[in-house]
Amino acid sequence: MNETADRRAPSQLPAKEDRKNSHKGSQWSLFANLVDLVRSDHHSTDFSGSRADYIHNRVRILGLIYAALVMLWIPVDYLLPGTPFVALAITRLVACAAFLAVALVRHNPHHLPLARIRLGLLVVIPCVFYFISQLLLTGDVSVWAAMGYSFYPYVMIAQLAIFALTLLEGVALAIPVFLIVLASQAVGGEFFSSETIAALWLLGLLLTLALWAQMSQLQMLLRLYRQATRDPLTGLLNRRALMGRLAEEMERSQRYKRQLTVLLFDLDKFKRVNDALGHLAGDAVLRHFAGVMEKALRRSDLVGRYGGEEFLAVLPETSPERGCEVAERIRSDCHDAPASAPDGTPVPFTTSIGVATLLPGEDAETLLTRVDESLYKAKETGRDRVVLAGAE
Ligand code: GH3
Ligand code: MG
Ligand code: MG
Repeated sequence: MNETADRRAPSQLPAKEDRKNSHKGSQWSLFANLVDLVRSDHHSTDFSGSRADYIHNRVRILGLIYAALVMLWIPVDYLLPGTPFVALAITRLVACAAFLAVALVRHNPHHLPLARIRLGLLVVIPCVFYFISQLLLTGDVSVWAAMGYSFYPYVMIAQLAIFALTLLEGVALAIPVFLIVLASQAVGGEFFSSETIAALWLLGLLLTLALWAQMSQLQMLLRLYRQATRDPLTGLLNRRALMGRLAEEMERSQRYKRQLTVLLFDLDKFKRVNDALGHLAGDAVLRHFAGVMEKALRRSDLVGRYGGEEFLAVLPETSPERGCEVAERIRSDCHDAPASAPDGTPVPFTTSIGVATLLPGEDAETLLTRVDESLYKAKETGRDRVVLAGAE
């Protein structure tokens, strides 16, 4: 997925699919569901950030555990006959330092590519360690020592089960393990012997279970995340998620001194729609309106359900003039094209829109109060219009 392009995708999960489907009731199709478990390019930036954080935390803990375990085996090497103790101890020290680096080096925990690299290191470091140990453990080595080292590839595959990963991520992470097993078998002169085939078969079996476990976790995470952040009727962000994202966008805009414009929508005389045509027709209008907004907004804009028939759009890097243009387009789209009730009856509706641009140092509450005042002015002056804060 292009992280920068999708940095502020309004829809939460899965961004592109739901953008297409939200006006149809935001039902997740089975296909979209499966695709989301196979690859991550349809995941929204929001979800990817949360997943990166989840991976990041587990990698840190595992890194610390491996750093401790790799050192704790040193006395075992010392006690087992035939092991090249000094060489192995040095290798273990280096591996321990590498694990500690993976566990302790800090980066933005919400950055998925970095979290993936870190997880990749958690696979590659033991692979390299395993390969070196296989080179060192030649000759008359105790069976216990050989066994202790031969478990590494299996542990590397099994550890994948504790991460919420896509199928492609899981397979990509397993490739180095398979390659290193083949390489060490080749170095040991046993390339494609029955032992190699048995090892690969067992690894394949473990990988299948690990992939199943990680994709199940991913599916659960996707579902919970969706429930926690989406309005079930329109598929747009719910108020809580929207406020969280607004705060992030405001912080970014203030930091980089960029403009940010918000649009607050309120459907006009909406109670009448419900009263005249019923609640289901009202719901259909709300869903239709969500579709109109999504069509008019960029992928980098945010839009969510602010209240019953009130919606808020957050347009990063947008001037007040441009914000008014977008608002006007949405207003006229609503005015010109009625929604349809479930029985097919056309339902004309209009919306009033307040527009406000973030002022330097302004907080969210003040910005929202100002945009609410503009919306109120739009209502007061006849509805079905756009009013820009400070320009009334
Ligand atoms: P105004 O132009 O002043 O905004 O008039 P209004 O009728 O839109 O305003 P009011 O606040 O009186 O009514 C809002 C209505 O929105 C009342 C409520 O029944 C309806 N509403 C809120 N949420 C939903 C929903 O999820 N579905 C449906 N069908 N109606 C909803
Ligand atoms: Mg209202
Ligand atoms: Mg209203």
